[in-house]
Amino acid sequence: MIPPGSTIGIIGGGQLGRMLSIAAAQLGYKTHIYDPHEDVCADDVAAYRTRAAFESAEAITRFGESVDVATYEFENLPVEPLKALGEKLRPGVRSLAIAQDRAAEKQFIEECGGRVAPWRPVASLAEVRAAIADLRAPAVLKTRRYGYDGKGQAWIRSAEEAEKAWLGIGEEPAVAEAGVPFSAEFSVILARWEDGRHAFWDSPQNAHDGGILRRSTVPCSDSCSAQIPTAREAALAIAEALGHVGVLTVEFFASVDGPVVNEIAPRVHNSGHWTIEGAVTSQFEQHIRAICGLPPGVTGLTRGHAVMENLIGPEIERWPELVAERGVHLHLYGKGEARPGRKMGHFTRVIR
Ligand code: ADP
Ligand code: MG
Repeated sequence: MIPPGSTIGIIGGGQLGRMLSIAAAQLGYKTHIYDPHEDVCADDVAAYRTRAAFESAEAITRFGESVDVATYEFENLPVEPLKALGEKLRPGVRSLAIAQDRAAEKQFIEECGGRVAPWRPVASLAEVRAAIADLRAPAVLKTRRYGYDGKGQAWIRSAEEAEKAWLGIGEEPAVAEAGVPFSAEFSVILARWEDGRHAFWDSPQNAHDGGILRRSTVPCSDSCSAQIPTAREAALAIAEALGHVGVLTVEFFASVDGPVVNEIAPRVHNSGHWTIEGAVTSQFEQHIRAICGLPPGVTGLTRGHAVMENLIGPEIERWPELVAERGVHLHLYGKGEARPGRKMGHFTRVIR
C-alpha cells in the first residue's frame, strides 16, 4: 500500500492530470506532474513539476526516483522510456502500448473475445482502396497513432473518396474501419486493483459532435442498458488480459447485433467526469485508490440521474450563466486560449 503523504507522479498535465491531482490531494497525497510544456493546467493544483520531453529516459528515471508511484493521463507517450519506471508505473506499459495503436488495440480486443467493427490495417492508397472494396463504404480511416477527439480521422462515404481521405489523414499508417450503424454510444468505466478486485460505474450514454464528446448521461437509455452485461464482460476481459491497474474505459456502439467496442482508454475518461458529483466515489478518486492499493470506493449513484456536458472552445464564455445556475457543478480547467475544439471545462447536473 502506498499511504497518504506519499507522492504520486502523473505523466501529462492536462485536465485529467488536474482532476487526478485534486482527488489525490483530498486523500492527503502530493502529486508531481511530468509534462514538456511550459504552462499546463495541472500545475495549479500539483506540488511538484518536471518539465522535460516524454522521450527522455534520463528525465523519466529521475522523475521515477522522486515519486512513490506513477501514472499517466494520456496515451500518446513513447513506451520505451517509461520502462525505466518499472513496477512503479500503474497501469503498466502494456496497457499503454496496446491502447496507443489502433491496429494492436483492435487485434487485442478480438483476442479477448470483444467485437469490433470489421477493419483492415492500411499503409498505402492501394491498401485503402482494397480495404474499402472489402468493407464497403461508409467506412472511416483512422491513423494508428496520435488520434484524439476525432483528429486523424476521415470518412469515406463512397469508393471515390478513398484518395481524399488518405491524403486527409496525412498518408499515415492507419486502420480502415466499417461504419457501425448504432442506436447509441455508451462507455464502460471500471477500476481494477492489482489483486483482481474491480468495480464498475453505471454506464453513461455518450453523444458526440464532430468526433468530440458533447454530453454523457446516466442512466443510459434502455437500448444501451440491455447491452451492458455483455459489454462489461468484454471490458473486464480486456482489463484482466492487460493486467490493468487503475481506471480503464471502453467505448461501445450499441448496434442491433449487440455491443461493438469502438476503442479503449487506459485511464480516466471524459465520459466519466459525471462521477465527481454523480457517483459516491469519482473515477479520479478511484484511480488514486487503485494505484495506491487503498480499498475500492463505492461506485453507486448519489442521486437518480447525472448529465455532464463539455465546454468546448468559445463555449467557456457561458461560465457566468452556469456558475449562477442552481444545482450546476461547474468545472473550469484554468486553460489559456479558448481555441476551437479545445476542452475548456465541463458542468454536471445531478438530478433526483
Ligand atoms: P477518438 O480517439 O478521437 O475518440 P473514436 O474512434 O472514438 O476517436 O471516434 C470518435 C467518434 O466518431 C466516435 O465516438 C463515434 O461517434 C464516431 N465513430 C468512430 N468510428 C466509427 C465507426 N466505425 N462507425 C460509426 N461511428 C464512428
Ligand atoms: Mg473515442
